[in-house]
Amino acid sequence: MPKLSFHGADRGVTGSCHLIECGAHRVLIDCGFYQGGDEPDQGNARPFGFDPATIDFVLLTHAHLDHCGRLPLLVRRGFHGEMITTDASRELARLVMLDAANLQEEEARSESRSAGRQGAEPTVPLYSVLDAVNTVGYFGRTAAYDEPMEVCPGVEATFLDAGHILGSASILLQLTESERRVRVLFSGDLGNAGQPLLRMPAKPPAADAVVMETTYGDRLHKPIQASVEELYAAISDTFSRGGNVVIPTFALERAQAILYFLREGLKRNRLPRTMQVFLDSPMAISATEIFRHHPECYDKATAALFQAGNDPLSFSGLHLARETADSKALNGIAAGAVIMAGSGMCTGGRVQHHLKHNLWRSESSVVFVGYAAQHTLARQIIDGAKRVQILGEDIPVRAHVHTINGFSAHADQAELLAWHRQTDAGRTFLVHGEERTMRQFASLLKKTGVEMPVLHQQFDL
Ligand code: ZN
Repeated sequence: MPKLSFHGADRGVTGSCHLIECGAHRVLIDCGFYQGGDEPDQGNARPFGFDPATIDFVLLTHAHLDHCGRLPLLVRRGFHGEMITTDASRELARLVMLDAANLQEEEARSESRSAGRQGAEPTVPLYSVLDAVNTVGYFGRTAAYDEPMEVCPGVEATFLDAGHILGSASILLQLTESERRVRVLFSGDLGNAGQPLLRMPAKPPAADAVVMETTYGDRLHKPIQASVEELYAAISDTFSRGGNVVIPTFALERAQAILYFLREGLKRNRLPRTMQVFLDSPMAISATEIFRHHPECYDKATAALFQAGNDPLSFSGLHLARETADSKALNGIAAGAVIMAGSGMCTGGRVQHHLKHNLWRSESSVVFVGYAAQHTLARQIIDGAKRVQILGEDIPVRAHVHTINGFSAHADQAELLAWHRQTDAGRTFLVHGEERTMRQFASLLKKTGVEMPVLHQQFDL
């Protein structure tokens, strides 16, 4: 009998990792990083709950860090099988893993310096850039949407467009062991149908069991158009006051969605022609390049734009700042600029410098377009702090602060429920959500056979 076990994102949002055992084969669905929380590194460093050397295949739903971020660790600890995902996910995952490795090396170096001063052992990064590069070498076959693929005897996989980020997929597994045949559907992260650029999540097929995300299982999103109007108003008002707009930016998906809407705003004369936009994030610039390589992932309207030679992620007045010097030069601009810089939660990166130069000015604005975890600088500002510490300086908060929540890349409660209904599944495993959210969502399913697995729990299928 095939078995399913859970090794991450169990009653929590990050660290997605699920294991299928079917006959002699072991197939992992995602191997993501734990993020946030009190001691995320401990979550990442602890044993997987299975022996990586015994895993034959990894099927990756999408390239977000909380789905692919532990792959280099898997390789480092003995994995030598095949990783399978879509073309776009492979390219994005490479970028995401290299960036994560680089960050861990930097953190380990700085911790080692202070440890060295106290005579303690140097800190070793969880994995290195070399580990990330090695991991990319394990990507084998490419999955195409809607085309069943025999992963190995007894395991057939079909990747379906999840409409969440470029290349993202839900994965249907058809498992056969002896006489038993089971269809298990992994939702991956499901997209918000209102998002620009991407297609809607595909209609899910019928399945015996589903493993589904519940990130926003407890709430409904505002319609995206209202959020877009809010963004345009924030920019116009700021420019008329003589200030700049700082947008703390998530490099993958959100950055590209904002670029798309800024271009639309210019086209529809909702934004001033004089607007100068600075994408001050090497990671977001690289991700945007990858978006351009994959017209096969877009909705019809966006694909048509590309075909007509109109790049929907480019417009006059957009400047890309890869070099640190380009980023520093922005400090001299007093007005009329939209500055998009990472990190999205302001926990590090170039956005801190831009906040230092704009947060104290009542003419300027900060526009938050994504989730801000507790204890982050973004959250402090959103919660109305009068003064904040940035790069060792005490900065008063006088800028206008906007929080616009409609740009989410995740399905909301109604979309999740509709998706679940269409699968007609007899068994449901809820993952990738806070426990309270999950319970609320489970109560709406009104079905028996709903499980909320805990870490390392195993089920017969
Ligand atoms: Zn995701």
